[in-house]
Amino acid sequence: MHSPATSASSAAHPLPSYLNPHELGPWGQYLQQVDRVTPYLGSLARWVETLKRPKRILVVDVPIEMDDGRIAHFEGYRVQHNLSRGPGKGGVRFHQDVTLSEVMALSAWMSVKNAAVNVPYGGAKGGIRVDPKKLSRGELERLTRRYTSEIGLLIGPSKDIPAPDVNTNGQVMAWMMDTYSMNTGATATGVVTGKPVDLGGSLGRVEATGRGVFTVGMEAAKLTGLAVQGARVAVQGFGNVGGTAGKLFADAGAKIVAVQDHTGSIHNAAGLDVAALLDHVGNTGGVGGFAGATAMDNGDFWGVDCDILIPAALEGQITKDNAGKIKAKMVIEGANGPTTPEADDILNDKGVLVLPDVIANAGGVTVSYFEWVQDFSSFFWTEDEINARLVRIMQEAFAGVWQVAQENKVSLRTATFIVACKRILHAREMRGLYP
Ligand code: NAD
Repeated sequence: MHSPATSASSAAHPLPSYLNPHELGPWGQYLQQVDRVTPYLGSLARWVETLKRPKRILVVDVPIEMDDGRIAHFEGYRVQHNLSRGPGKGGVRFHQDVTLSEVMALSAWMSVKNAAVNVPYGGAKGGIRVDPKKLSRGELERLTRRYTSEIGLLIGPSKDIPAPDVNTNGQVMAWMMDTYSMNTGATATGVVTGKPVDLGGSLGRVEATGRGVFTVGMEAAKLTGLAVQGARVAVQGFGNVGGTAGKLFADAGAKIVAVQDHTGSIHNAAGLDVAALLDHVGNTGGVGGFAGATAMDNGDFWGVDCDILIPAALEGQITKDNAGKIKAKMVIEGANGPTTPEADDILNDKGVLVLPDVIANAGGVTVSYFEWVQDFSSFFWTEDEINARLVRIMQEAFAGVWQVAQENKVSLRTATFIVACKRILHAREMRGLYP
């Protein structure tokens, strides 16, 4: 469904193929979300087309020499979706399934997320289509450095600031920072966030996204009368986000009853020993084979008896095929885009409260913002200060979104999009169109 203005402009200027609104990938999922919010934008709806077109898309060839002497080529991307509110901000993903559609959608969700928590950034995202688990450390470093050089014309501390995402970490950020610094002739710590603490990174950044997931979960539990003490929690993805959120919920007295990752699904109705599971994942690379649980079929994971479900792996996981099985009262989206629009409707009809990615996982970019501010001022805050500021921003943003949802009788996802899209489009309107 498109507004009359959109249809008219599309007819006059046919959309480039990569913007096809009918494609079913993540970008199509995002476009449907924008269509849902358009009726709530008032006079700003005039500008909504700007949200449906990324500002810049860069596709780069990333050639590297492999350890055995072969020359391998990988496809890399950096997309700047919208820069109306500030420089681009968003992670870099290394995964064999990365596509342009996915990176475009992830960049757009960053625009929405940054506006939802009101940090002064636009939205961007990057990625390389590669399975980094098949690379040696040297190959991974060469890939990262060549990719950083190739996207060098877009990134910079006041232009576009990458960060970690799936399969990238502090070491990858350190290589990116060093490569950019070598190419520009001066150490520029503020070009990426999620760096190691000794290289201008921020205390609390590694756990920030999971802490944000936990914070909004606690706020929603208070508002809906769900007791977290003793609540049963299922988590998909036990990496940075899922592992931290799982640990914080367990520390708050919840029972982590099921976990799924790329190595399989495990279950323990009495509650898993989260510290032991994190050790196991650290040692073996996944939850599969963990002694303190029984293995379960991957398909059965979605129907597990639980109160809170945290998808914290990849997008498109909760679909029309498995949404009906979900028994949780609350879904907290640690991952980006884990729920398809059809599944969203099914969960809504069942009365399952969905805390959407664009607010629930915004803790990472919030502490990335703190890191960037600390790098600019070369003055570093304590972990307590960082966590307290993070919790305050997440609580305030969530309270605002909750109120908009109540006032308009819409889902929290649509409410977050209303808050965020209004901020982005208002900035666009005030800046005006150049020339
Ligand atoms: P990570 O690489 O640390 O962990 C990813 C997890 O997903 C791993 O446990 C992996 O086993 C699991 N996984 C991968 N493929 C899977 C599959 N097919 N089925 C089940 N599990 C699978 O990544 P992360 O940083 O924790 O990111 C997870 C999600 O959170 C992503 O959607 C990411 O975009 C989002 N996110 C991350 C951050 C951040 O700060 N790291 C911030 C916001 C959003």
